[in-house]
Amino acid sequence: MKAFYQLCILIGLVLRTHSGPVPAVMDKVEEDLAKDYLKKLYNMKEETRRTFGRTVSEMSEKLAEMQEFFRLTVTGTLDSETLEVMKKPRCGVPDVAAYNAAPGNYKWSTNKLTYRIENYTPDMSQAEVDDSIVRALKVWADVTPLRFTRIYSGVADIMISFSVRDHGDGYPFDGPNGFLAHAFYPFPGIGGDAHFDDDETFTFTSQNGYILFLVAAHEFGHALGLDHSRDPGALMYPTYSSRDASTFVLPQDDVNGIQSIYGPNPDKPVDPEKPDPTHPVTPDTCDANLVLDAVTMLRGEMLFFKNGLFWRTQPFSYQTEQHLIKSFWPEAPENIDAAYESPSNDLVYIFKGQKVWALSGYDVAKGYPKPLSSLGLSKRVKNISAALYDQHSRKTLLFVDDVYYSYNEDKKKVDRGNPKRVDDLFPGMTEKVTAAFQYRGFTYLYSGPRIFEFGYGRLLRVLNNNYFLPC
Ligand SMILES: [Zn+2]
Ligand SMILES: [Zn+2]
Repeated sequence: MKAFYQLCILIGLVLRTHSGPVPAVMDKVEEDLAKDYLKKLYNMKEETRRTFGRTVSEMSEKLAEMQEFFRLTVTGTLDSETLEVMKKPRCGVPDVAAYNAAPGNYKWSTNKLTYRIENYTPDMSQAEVDDSIVRALKVWADVTPLRFTRIYSGVADIMISFSVRDHGDGYPFDGPNGFLAHAFYPFPGIGGDAHFDDDETFTFTSQNGYILFLVAAHEFGHALGLDHSRDPGALMYPTYSSRDASTFVLPQDDVNGIQSIYGPNPDKPVDPEKPDPTHPVTPDTCDANLVLDAVTMLRGEMLFFKNGLFWRTQPFSYQTEQHLIKSFWPEAPENIDAAYESPSNDLVYIFKGQKVWALSGYDVAKGYPKPLSSLGLSKRVKNISAALYDQHSRKTLLFVDDVYYSYNEDKKKVDRGNPKRVDDLFPGMTEKVTAAFQYRGFTYLYSGPRIFEFGYGRLLRVLNNNYFLPC
């Protein structure tokens, strides 16, 4: 299953890298997939209709709507980038509410709700399912006045069940991958109920399947009245992303959404002057104080990392995509310190603490992560703050604040006489280097929210942090 997931992304990358935004000719299978997707998730009824004697393609309109939701280039055509998103495993609840429900239109009239687990998946022990459900409900109870009580018989507000294919509610499941689960907004009867597709492999914490806690926490968001979010860092984003279940904290976007319906948790008073810093906020390219964690090229694209997310863009394109790191590399760390692309072996190396990972496209290379000492660095080096491959010297520079180590890619070790001061090589650069990369022969050293551009052995310009990222 994981192989399938990675395969989809890999195909998407290859298509995108070679075809760019130009619409590719899709085969019948892919066109059918797209029609099915738009009918189920974007309320598409007919493929074409006549308006004032003119034939308007509803599919084109719905494609544009979907592209806008996922912040893709809006072309109204089925291009490779759009198809890539359609193939991702996701929640079966429509992205655009069929009845135009405004946020908060659906809400429970009481804060005391009941839930019942009607049956179990064979993928996990019953204790693991129970625990996953309890923690998924706690995600929401922690930030609202909502309280959940389990019942073992009768009808609960939130009825939880595992089933396959047609299961009697008019929304049949689709076998492995595709739709993972769905849930109903709060209203009497089936409202609040959450259904899980038992053709999936659900897991407790393992990345070899879909983590039930994450899928359930998302579905319970719907069961409490939330729609899908366009924020790629949000739990309520429609596509599935692997995350570390043991350290999961509800993102701020979801907190804002649920509190706009039910208000904050009265047992945990929140100081309005100081927003709770523990809920991750999705970084914004327009933030003038943005301090990036790492920047690297990957096969002609630029990747900009901040917290658990990264932006992916073509150089100087107005179009960027933002994704969770874990949605592309489930085995990578949640966030990173530094990254560089090695042209000698077509690998991207990412650093976190005293470990280094090698990424081959959208896979983690075998044998990784490795300790920093495998590069010949002293055990005293606690983390790398930035890294770049220098095309002129054909050495990799590993920065630790205001010093750097020169790493020989051929000999696979750090050169003698290191570390050296950064301003020995980049005159005037006396500040800590927080991210770095080279582009078209120029070196860009990030320090805090500014970029220092070096070329011809000297400092050329000081740029704003969003020079390469459209705001
Ligand atoms: Zn959903
Ligand atoms: Zn169902």
